[in-house]
Amino acid sequence: MIKVAMCWDDGPSTDIRLTSICRKYGAKATFNLCPKWISAKTTLPTWQSQPQVGVWSHKGFQCGRVGLDRLHEVYDGFEVASHCMCHETVGKNMPLDRFLKGAIDARKFLEDEFQKPCRGFAWPCGQYDDHSALGLQEAGFAYGRTTEQTVDPQRYVHPLILKSNGHFQDGNFWEKFEAAKANGSKFFYFWGHSYEMVDCEGLWNQLEEKIRLFSEDPDVSWANVIDIVS
Ligand SMILES: [Zn+2]
Repeated sequence: MIKVAMCWDDGPSTDIRLTSICRKYGAKATFNLCPKWISAKTTLPTWQSQPQVGVWSHKGFQCGRVGLDRLHEVYDGFEVASHCMCHETVGKNMPLDRFLKGAIDARKFLEDEFQKPCRGFAWPCGQYDDHSALGLQEAGFAYGRTTEQTVDPQRYVHPLILKSNGHFQDGNFWEKFEAAKANGSKFFYFWGHSYEMVDCEGLWNQLEEKIRLFSEDPDVSWANVIDIVS
């Protein structure tokens, strides 16, 4: 038996389709959200007609964001976790207190909104350092997901520096899953952004197939990310 956990970052409106796939197969998932990016109204994805300077997009795909109007419809029943208020990223231009405030305020927002503890964290841009990790631990966070990889997510040096088995679009995704099983790992954990599938049916089908295969595998059960450190 192996438990499979997954998490998804940034709250793009492509999470609407992703959560409906998860519900269809009874899959658990954690969504790492930035409350400052949650507007009153949901904005849907669009392709830029031409490259635009200073406007964020994924290869020209503006992913939109889930807004307050659909926040519960989309995320209720899943775990939500802090990804800082507006993606505050650890680095030399980010004072520690500003980073920690971003992380903690996001958690408070999510706990008020969803009326449950939200002790998870995902490091924006995967950037972390020891001071920030200790600060998050003191603030009561249970884990912090990096973008580094391991064959066994439970063999962490520190739970605030948690590694996953990889990214959902890794070319050797299934080899990594087999390696985790061969290693005797109790968890297989992957992450991504739903906007990386843009509006490409082939990519969405690829992910749905992964989720379907896990759900139909009698030796697999779904888990939440926080279960890895519990
Ligand atoms: Zn992010």
